Amino acid sequence: METSKPFQYTDTSDACIKCGKCIPGCTIHMIHPDETTSPRGFIDLLGAYQNGEIELDKRAKDIFESCFLCTACTDVCPNDLPTDMVIEQVRKEIADTFGIAWFKRLFFTLLRHRWLMDLMMKLGYTFKTCAFADEPVRGGMIPRFKMPIIKSGRLLPSLSKTSFLNTYPEETPHGGKRRVAIFIGCLANYNYTTVGDSLMEVLAFLEIDAFIPKQQMCCSAPAYFTGDFYTVETLTKQNIEYFETFFDEIEAMIVPEATCSAMISHDWEVFFRNQGMDDWADRARTLNQKIFMATEWLEKHTDLTKHLAAKGVQMPTTVTYHDACHAAKVQNIREEPRTLLSQNYEMVEMSDPDRCCGFGGVTMQTEKYHLAEAAGAPKAAMIAETGAQVVSAECSACRMQIGNSLHQADVDVVVKNPIELIAEALRT
Ligand code: SF4
Ligand code: SF4
Repeated sequence: METSKPFQYTDTSDACIKCGKCIPGCTIHMIHPDETTSPRGFIDLLGAYQNGEIELDKRAKDIFESCFLCTACTDVCPNDLPTDMVIEQVRKEIADTFGIAWFKRLFFTLLRHRWLMDLMMKLGYTFKTCAFADEPVRGGMIPRFKMPIIKSGRLLPSLSKTSFLNTYPEETPHGGKRRVAIFIGCLANYNYTTVGDSLMEVLAFLEIDAFIPKQQMCCSAPAYFTGDFYTVETLTKQNIEYFETFFDEIEAMIVPEATCSAMISHDWEVFFRNQGMDDWADRARTLNQKIFMATEWLEKHTDLTKHLAAKGVQMPTTVTYHDACHAAKVQNIREEPRTLLSQNYEMVEMSDPDRCCGFGGVTMQTEKYHLAEAAGAPKAAMIAETGAQVVSAECSACRMQIGNSLHQADVDVVVKNPIELIAEALRT
């Protein structure tokens, strides 16, 4: 068993050689070019905070909440310094010191109680037309009037009548030779339900049994990025105990969502290790061996690429692919979705597919929406430049952010998960 030691910000600040390699690609620094809002600056401030040289006051809170947690810095740091991790840790201290805003507490309460979230989403679906208008071009809905937390004119994901988890039975046999579990993620469960529908179609085509664990809970990423460690611990422990009951009977658990997949396969262990709960960290690590992003598993462990090629179909849609930070930087998944898509779609690369879309988490999408808007504009522009009709990303958070950025820039490009595009090609 690996043993953790108490978390120290100074370990990171002392190890930073101030080379500045992390600065050019930093999402917040690109839109707010100041040393304090750069990975090197964050690390320096955290070291100073731990040494008692600065207070964790409102200004420090504002600075630490401006990080997008995109991990672009950790990807290039020669010393592998975990800037994202130290920011996540200080956000816990910020939450302890300043509290968490009421609407975020409400949201995290819903995440901890699936039945209540189901009920709220049903009510939301029933009454959505009172407050939101449908957006027919890119899909989604737009607030009809100014709301307390949501800026008017934003494109938001629409709500589905029935969630993915409530649509399908727990077991869907497709021949019985192979069996995988699906972890769907909250946005694909309640909003972008066609992602799960498409994944079910792909598994049916490949004759792989689909097991949908009905008691799965949120992966806890929204709470982790906001510093609500109580919610992270609650959801994560519940999920681990539940997954352990069926993991021996499945070949893999596939996740068509980069953030959820990165959270489960990487951050759960990191979280428990940093909290000194090594037994839970070890249990999370054991589960990791069977957690895959959907395109990664389908490309590496099935004949899907061959099947798509054998179709000999060229779809009439040009696609550009956005590398979600949690797929490319955290899990090194770049080629797998491109390999699958390129069998039937003309692919055109945008100038910087790796650049963060600017989603950034719950705080960034609410209190700091102006930063998400600023970070999203360059992504929308580079997508428009490609001339593609569809931008694909295996992440519903990116889909929400890019969809809104395209809407703000009035660019008629649709965002789709690669699994949806693959299912469309298989249908021909
Ligand atoms: S995680 Fe992203 S936004 Fe935050 S410091 Fe690193 S590069 Fe900058
Ligand atoms: S790349 Fe790493 S070592 Fe260099 S300044 Fe950034 S955090 Fe420090």
